[in-house]
Amino acid sequence: MSKVVKFGGSSLASAEQFEKVGKIIRADKERRFVVPSAPGKRFKADTKVTDMLYACYDLAEQGKDFSKELSDIKARYQEIIDGLGLKLSLDQQFAEIEKQFKAKAGKDYAASRGEFLNGIVMANYLGYEFIDAAEVIFFDEEGNFEAEKTNEVLSARLVGVKNAVIPGFYGSQENGKVKTFSRGGSDVTGSIVAKAAKVDVYENWTDVSGFLIADPRIIKNPVGIDVITYRELRELSYMGAGVLHEDAIFPVRQQGIPINIRNTNAPEDGGTWIVGSTCQKSKYVITGIAGKKGFCAINIEKDMMNSEIGFGRKVLQAFEENGISFEHVPSGIDTLTVFVHQDEFMHKEQKVVAGINRLAKPDTIDIEADLALIAVVGRGMKSTRGTAGRIFSALAHANVNVRMIDQGSSELNIIIGVSNDDFEAAIKAIYDIFVLTKL
Ligand code: ASP
Repeated sequence: MSKVVKFGGSSLASAEQFEKVGKIIRADKERRFVVPSAPGKRFKADTKVTDMLYACYDLAEQGKDFSKELSDIKARYQEIIDGLGLKLSLDQQFAEIEKQFKAKAGKDYAASRGEFLNGIVMANYLGYEFIDAAEVIFFDEEGNFEAEKTNEVLSARLVGVKNAVIPGFYGSQENGKVKTFSRGGSDVTGSIVAKAAKVDVYENWTDVSGFLIADPRIIKNPVGIDVITYRELRELSYMGAGVLHEDAIFPVRQQGIPINIRNTNAPEDGGTWIVGSTCQKSKYVITGIAGKKGFCAINIEKDMMNSEIGFGRKVLQAFEENGISFEHVPSGIDTLTVFVHQDEFMHKEQKVVAGINRLAKPDTIDIEADLALIAVVGRGMKSTRGTAGRIFSALAHANVNVRMIDQGSSELNIIIGVSNDDFEAAIKAIYDIFVLTKL
């Protein structure tokens, strides 16, 4: 058995946190490959090293003096090095970074140094080999991640390596330029390493004990999720449930490697298991609820729409021509509604409307703003009667007007559209009916 362990920024924000991480790694010799983030916040008002690097590089790019900002970053690492009692100097690395900043090496290069340096510190602390992610993780010229090439090179590199630290968040392009994933991308690196090393488990250590059924900012002390499938998680994270980077699921999912979300500050908690499939029923009919505000619905009506071949395509073409992606397209007999993100749509609204008029010649177009979408997700819904009924009666009791309903063909989720103002009340009502009044 072997494991990849990825630690988030808050798990590595200080020497004290590093010590907890060291204990976790040493407690299990299967934890062979370590993927660190950059040091995160030590306290609420603190700044993540990644953000310090972005700000510092901004100055460099404008040709301004950035020495104070760079030395503040160096101090963050020095504090960790001293706190751990390591004999390690990062002088050489910082001299190189200064040189590269002056040469305007790029924003991605700048941000990636957070993980790069933390990887060096971590490798020194653990006595593990350090493998620079720029040598084993690749992006093409357009900046898209190259899965195959990476897997080939990284697997070969890891043959015979007993233990290693591979910094998260970045890789390199053909021309040697450093490229990062989007924010929170160390999760993706962990998944890529897990796949290449063919490990049995990808442990993702963070500052919460796994996923919760609902957002704790809306529901007080929500129940945790023990086991969730990749597909369920995909639905939930798409709808805004945080904790894990969306793209982190794909590499391990292909290999059927489970992800275990754990809490560095409470290592005794089992956390959440993310798996391909499971015979374990979730505790409730639903596995989770997530949602987002800020949608717009464009309602399009036309008599005899149902018999007009190509109507839907023409409508969607108007969105495509304006570079707007749609979220949902529920339809009736003579009506079709397109849900889009309001902030994307807002500036192009009249162009899209003109496009629909030109292409599809509808009778009326009516726009509704300030809507929220809520996804109720659960593998248990397929085999349970009355789930939709329970959702609607709960929402009716809570005086929430349902504007849209869309049940995915997989019966894994039900998406509900409500007004932004009803968002919290709707989530509370759904949580109550499934979790608090469990059948
Ligand atoms: N340090 C990067 C960020 O703050 C990547 C990560 O932590 O995963 O987004």
